[in-house]
Amino acid sequence: MAATIMDGKALAAKVKEEVARDVAELGGIGLATVLVGDDPASHIYIRLKHEAAEAVGIRSDDRRLPADISQEELLEVVEELNADDSIDGVLVQSPMPDHLDEELTVETLDPAKDVDGFHPRNAGALYLGEPLLVPATPLGVMRMLEEYEVELSGARAVVIGRSNIVGKPMAHLLLQANATVTVAHSRTRDLAAVVNEADILVAAVGVAHLVTADMIKTGAAVVDVGMNRTEAGLVGDVDPGAADRAAFITPVPGGVGPMTIAMLLANTVKAARARRARLANRPD
Ligand code: NAD
Repeated sequence: MAATIMDGKALAAKVKEEVARDVAELGGIGLATVLVGDDPASHIYIRLKHEAAEAVGIRSDDRRLPADISQEELLEVVEELNADDSIDGVLVQSPMPDHLDEELTVETLDPAKDVDGFHPRNAGALYLGEPLLVPATPLGVMRMLEEYEVELSGARAVVIGRSNIVGKPMAHLLLQANATVTVAHSRTRDLAAVVNEADILVAAVGVAHLVTADMIKTGAAVVDVGMNRTEAGLVGDVDPGAADRAAFITPVPGGVGPMTIAMLLANTVKAARARRARLANRPD
């Protein structure tokens, strides 16, 4: 059986079209990014986010701060963006230089503008089953599963990885969609046996081809979040041979990656809508 390829590039283009329509309807949406220091990969990510924002009509505000900025100065920038009514979404690019407290910085963000969904308030809302702003990568995975009509209710889902930005929110979203969810991680015993139970597998580890074809249950939907740079180029956490057993599979590249930026833009629109509705209902 050859799997249906879940085409993240095509779906991301569709999501961006939807976002562009929403932006045109709402008008004047602003996304601010804060980048501290000169990590080369972060520079690329920030550039891609800005290009994507501009392409859908979201105005972007690109804050570049020196690597030796103090925690206090960084928090001042975040607070300024919190207070700026023309800004609907704010994200602080990770990783930050070691002398800065990433947690404190995220906690200082206005949760209503936290388009990465990393603020404890947003993480807590997801845990309680009332999500508003959810991290873009797992959100993109849910959108792909929905697009390809993968049945989630009652299905056995296995998420490999328990990071706060991918694995944990992914598990909660699948649970809320009524899947029976197992979270596997670096201490999991007999990963092959756990993976073999999965009707839906989401691999978010960062180890090239950790999941081999023989682990996959026949007919499973396989989502590969992993992005591993190897001599052979960018590869995922799942061996591409898994396509012979899976019913659905995401490619790397061209799967989850493009969806992440598209969902960040969708989150910016969501934040703008929610904040404007609240401002409109504010008693004078
Ligand atoms: P992380 O390093 O924070 O977490 C990795 C997780 O994998 C940990 O919870 C760990 O317990 C688990 N793990 C490590 N080794 C394992 C093993 N041998 N068996 C089972 N579990 C193991 O990483 P992250 O930020 O969650 O990212 C995971 C991967 O997803 C990376 O390759 C990253 O580049 C990629 N990623 C891609 C996107 C995208 O847009 N496509 C976005 C975010 C992350």
